[in-house]
Amino acid sequence: MARSLRSRIALSIIRRKLPSIIGADAVAGLEDGLHVAIVGSGSPLPDESRGNPCVAVIVGERVYVVDAGEGSSETLNRMNIDAGRIETVLLTHFHSDHIGGLGSVNLQRWVSDRTDSPLRVLGPPGVDRVVDGYNEAYALDATYRTAHHGAEYVDPANAAMIAESFPVPPDGETNLVLEDDGLRITAFEVDHAPVAPVVGFRFEYRGRSVVISADTVYSDNLVKAARDTDLLIHDALSIELLMMVSETSTELGFEARGKILADVTDYHATAPQAADAAQRAGAKALAITHIVPPLPLKALEEVFLDGAPNHYDGPLWLAADGDLYSLPTTGGLKVSNLIRRR
Ligand SMILES: [Zn+2]
Ligand SMILES: [Zn+2]
Repeated sequence: MARSLRSRIALSIIRRKLPSIIGADAVAGLEDGLHVAIVGSGSPLPDESRGNPCVAVIVGERVYVVDAGEGSSETLNRMNIDAGRIETVLLTHFHSDHIGGLGSVNLQRWVSDRTDSPLRVLGPPGVDRVVDGYNEAYALDATYRTAHHGAEYVDPANAAMIAESFPVPPDGETNLVLEDDGLRITAFEVDHAPVAPVVGFRFEYRGRSVVISADTVYSDNLVKAARDTDLLIHDALSIELLMMVSETSTELGFEARGKILADVTDYHATAPQAADAAQRAGAKALAITHIVPPLPLKALEEVFLDGAPNHYDGPLWLAADGDLYSLPTTGGLKVSNLIRRR
């Protein structure tokens, strides 16, 4: 059957656009500095507009990924950040929403033209169990791909990730976990009890810094570690909205769901508490992420924030997937979005 005019036009458009789609690269050409990409701004609760937690920090043309929740590799791709540029993955803790996309991130990196080494995964004690498990789960896949495409293109030596654990720093202290060409990454413990260990990270590069809270309630350790940072990325949860979902679930007979959602309210900060942390730390800007629960209506953002801007003097954003917070060494903070190109 002959193709319709519409399909022939579509084919010609896509043929013309394909080189710019395949060649798109959000990383090359970024100014020297720290660039913080929000890859997933959601939580384990299904949210059509937010992926599970993942932040990519871009320094020069190197990418450091903090947590790799489900959907991370797909969103990195939509943001035109080639997984082959990932130097290291850093895990804050081992909740499923922070590790569920690790296998796919490693796979996408492995098959990238840019990759010539195995992926290092740093984390507190326990990281080896997670990485060993993923390596085992993907071991057969790796043999198929090398057999099919050839070791020259998908080198089996780079298929499996390498886990490296670091000790959790004592209360009030930080640990240097990575130093690389002007970049310093330190870890500090936060409070996500009963889950432990959980660490946040501070990235410093040529006078600029960003602090990523991980999952935590209001934490003095975090406030100390985030002192004078250019940008604090903090998790937050709305107790009012989450309890509404919990109570409705229980009323409808979903007892386990109601119980689990109610339990979650005690181990994340609220938006006003995240703002308090930013204020006390003297952070110059605050982006709130790990949004719980999902906000299907735009006007619910105000309910979620619950007056947080009154707790903090600096600029405050509710992060969205694709957001890029740029901290060039020349100063300032620019916000753009690599998916919407706003
Ligand atoms: Zn968690
Ligand atoms: Zn989480």
